[in-house]
Amino acid sequence: MQAQDSILAQLQHRKNTLPELAEIVELEARAKELDGQRIEHDTAVSDLTRAQKKADAEVEQVKARRTRDEERLSSGAVSNPKDLASLQHELVALERRIGTLEDDELEIMESLEEAQARLTNVQGDLADVTAELEQKIAARDAAIAVLDQQAAEAQAERGTVVGGVPADLIGLYDKLRSQYGTGAAALRARRCEGCRLEINGADLRELAAQPDDEVLRCPECSRILIRTPESGL
Ligand SMILES: [Zn+2]
Repeated sequence: MQAQDSILAQLQHRKNTLPELAEIVELEARAKELDGQRIEHDTAVSDLTRAQKKADAEVEQVKARRTRDEERLSSGAVSNPKDLASLQHELVALERRIGTLEDDELEIMESLEEAQARLTNVQGDLADVTAELEQKIAARDAAIAVLDQQAAEAQAERGTVVGGVPADLIGLYDKLRSQYGTGAAALRARRCEGCRLEINGADLRELAAQPDDEVLRCPECSRILIRTPESGL
């Protein structure tokens, strides 16, 4: 029974310390970080797309004004030299304005391209991390399924052993186990394998004098002692 309980404790420990658990925590943190970056780049792309449309509209507006002025100039409707000079002056100014606006627009488009590239990058990284995370979760679940199966087998084995042990002895065993982690230990070469202490001669003689069906207890740690062929009694 102690052997099965030790197996069960080991299985639980392995379940709690699966390497996938730490890896999953790490990957989840990385995915969260990447998603934050994705939102950031996504916002930048939206902002720059809007800015680009605005800059484009501004260029179009100034160009329309230029077209209007050019038409007026070529139509001959403006004959007054002063008006003519002012119109030509305005055309020069509009030309300069268009140049500036187009430079700005180009700059925005370059920034937009960079932001889009960053967004694509982070989306790719996020997809990789998400795929890896899914893999680790599947591996963790598979490992847990195996451990649960082994635990079920140990539990069943324990069940058949418990059936043959008197209830008061089970009670004592459970009490010791909750206290020390193990309730029973083998007695080998005069040593209790629970506390690892060697039992002195007087105690040993007392143990040896007990009838075979008497439950022995370690004089040092009070665990139930299991007789073995090498007990030294
Ligand atoms: Zn002991």
